[in-house]
Amino acid sequence: MNGKVVVFTTGGTIAMRYDPEIGGAVPAVSGPELIEAVPPLADVCPVEVREFSNIPSPHMTPKRMFDLAKQVEKALEEPDTLGAVITHGTDTLEETAYFLDLCIKSDKPVCLTAAMRSAAEISPDGPKNILCAVRCAACPEARGKGAFVVMNEEIHAAREVTKTHSANPKTFASPFWGPVGYVDADRIIFRRDSIEPQKIHPESIVDDVHLIKLVAGADDFLFNYLVDKKVKGIVVEGFGRGNVSPGAFSGMKRAVENGIPVVLTTRCLGGRVLDVYGYEGGVIRQKEAGIILGGEINGQKARIKLILALGMTQDREKLAEYFDRP
Ligand code: ASP
Repeated sequence: MNGKVVVFTTGGTIAMRYDPEIGGAVPAVSGPELIEAVPPLADVCPVEVREFSNIPSPHMTPKRMFDLAKQVEKALEEPDTLGAVITHGTDTLEETAYFLDLCIKSDKPVCLTAAMRSAAEISPDGPKNILCAVRCAACPEARGKGAFVVMNEEIHAAREVTKTHSANPKTFASPFWGPVGYVDADRIIFRRDSIEPQKIHPESIVDDVHLIKLVAGADDFLFNYLVDKKVKGIVVEGFGRGNVSPGAFSGMKRAVENGIPVVLTTRCLGGRVLDVYGYEGGVIRQKEAGIILGGEINGQKARIKLILALGMTQDREKLAEYFDRP
C-alpha cells in the first residue's frame, strides 16, 4: 500500500505488564515494542510509532486529549499518511475517541484501539486489535466517517460506542445501533453509515466542566457546591427523558442564573432527552429555565462536547446549537 499509518501510543493495559512486587499490572511496554509484537503489520503498510505517553487511561485528561489531537492532526497532514491509530486504555477510551471525532479536521481515518488483556495474560487481545486498527486506518473507505473504536474485529463510531463490561474483551458496543462495520481476514467491511460527523475546532478548551449523575432523592447539594466554585459548565445525567428531582432542578436553575451552562442528558443507555413532561423537574420546565438539551449522547460524551464548545463560545444559544442533534 502507498503510504504509512502513524500509531500514537498513550498507554493502557495494552502497554502494561504484571509487576510481581506490586502484585498488579503497570505501564511497562514501549511503543516500538507494541508494534514489534504484531509481525503481520509488515504485510499491511509501513507503520510509524510515536509515543505520546504511557499512562493508564484513568490518568487521561481533556488537556492531554487536546495535545494528542494536535499531534494526530499534524501527522494526518503529512502527504504520505493514510491514517492514524491511537492505542489507549479502555477505561476512558470513548471520551478520547469522541474528543478526536469532534475536533480532528482531516478526513483521513482515526482509529482508537486497546486491550482488555495485557501481554502477560493468556490470549492477549492487544496485538490483533492493533492489526485490525492499522488495517482500518489504511482503508480508503474509512475516510470521512469520523473517529472509530476498533476492538474485537468490530468497528464502532466514536459517537455511538461505550464500554459496557468491566472485564470481558467484548466490552465495546454501540447500544441500539451496533458496529458500523468489521475487519474480516481479507478486507474491511462497512455495513452502515453513522450520522454525519460533527466538527468543533476551538483554539483552546475549557475543561472546568463537571458531570452529575442523578439518583432518586437527589438534592441541590452538589449543584450548590459547583455554583459556589464558579465552574464553567455542568452536565447532568437525568432520569428517562431527562426529568430530574425537584431538589436537583433548583440547583440547576441556580447554576443557570449564575451564568453556568447546564447540559441535560439521560442516564438511560439510549434515546434523546425531550420536553414531554411539565411537572416540577420535567424537561418542559427545564427548557423554560434555560437548560440545554444534550440530544442522544451519554453524559461523559456531552461533557467532552461542552469542553470543546466552550472553547468556541460562552453564549448559551450558540452552545445549545452544538447539542441540537442526535
Ligand atoms: N485501567 C486500564 C486503562 O484504562 C484498563 C485498560 O487499559 O483497558 O488504562
